[in-house]
Amino acid sequence: MASMSTWTTFQPILERIAEEIERTPGSGRPADYIPALAACDPRRFGMAVAEPDGTVYGVGDWREPFSVQSITKVFTLALDLSREGGALWEHVGREPSGNPFNSLVQLEYENGIPRNPFINAGALVVTDRLHTRTGDAAGELLAFLRAESGNPDLTYDEEVAASEAAHGDRNAALGHFMASYGNIDNPVPVLLEQYFRQCSVAASCADLALATGFLARHGVRADGTRLLSRSQAKQVNAVMLTCGTYDAAGEFAYRVGLPGKSGVGGGIIAVVPGHCTLCVWSPGLDERGNSVAGVAALDRFATLTGLSVF
Ligand code: GLN
Repeated sequence: MASMSTWTTFQPILERIAEEIERTPGSGRPADYIPALAACDPRRFGMAVAEPDGTVYGVGDWREPFSVQSITKVFTLALDLSREGGALWEHVGREPSGNPFNSLVQLEYENGIPRNPFINAGALVVTDRLHTRTGDAAGELLAFLRAESGNPDLTYDEEVAASEAAHGDRNAALGHFMASYGNIDNPVPVLLEQYFRQCSVAASCADLALATGFLARHGVRADGTRLLSRSQAKQVNAVMLTCGTYDAAGEFAYRVGLPGKSGVGGGIIAVVPGHCTLCVWSPGLDERGNSVAGVAALDRFATLTGLSVF
């Protein structure tokens, strides 16, 4: 972390990264499983860094809302953990899956207990449990994101939510399969509606860098109240590091060395515990569903600043 002391602000680093990314020919393709995401221009790029006191720096399309998708899984995990504590881990594991985010294969061998909370099966379990505890899992998530980002206009993208539902056969299969093992409490259609609304939230890099701040502040929210214990915040960061980018989590840890979580909207959040949070967005995805320019930008950030957990 020594090299960071030569900068007083993240702005020049972000500008340098954006220039480098702009010079690199675009690669990757936007998610095409729903039309609303397929229409995104893969060359869009934005990046934001937030400090624990709420100071935020950004570059490119950093104030442009995009589809948050699986990044929401970090927040629902934190919201459920804060309510039920470690009992959650009887229903979802915390090991990397080595499989794609929407895979069904391990579930039967492992008796309907998903490997981790960041693959779709695990996220469905978390949302189900949060819904049981709050009566409105997606609403709870939205309220949290609005409060932490300081942006009351954050909301669901109804077109994306409807599209998710129209193309949701695989998530429905995961939900029903786990219900057959008794690992889902709510009726599966109720759970799916919550999950699709959750995935559809639109937010910008600035919003998400700020909303992730509690993980840099060791569990403390923007208003100074505590969401997670220090130990629980460590747990969430650890699961992000090992499972946050699906079957590419090893490569992401190797290149970036930070807890991170991607979504098929092209966003990735990352945490430097005690120091800052980041969000980068660029819709072109690799074959594992992670933003190509997003991973490259975080890789450069870690190299240029020397900030990583290692
Ligand atoms: N809505 C997507 C799904 O459930 C989210 C996946 C993702 O962002 N990786 O398939």
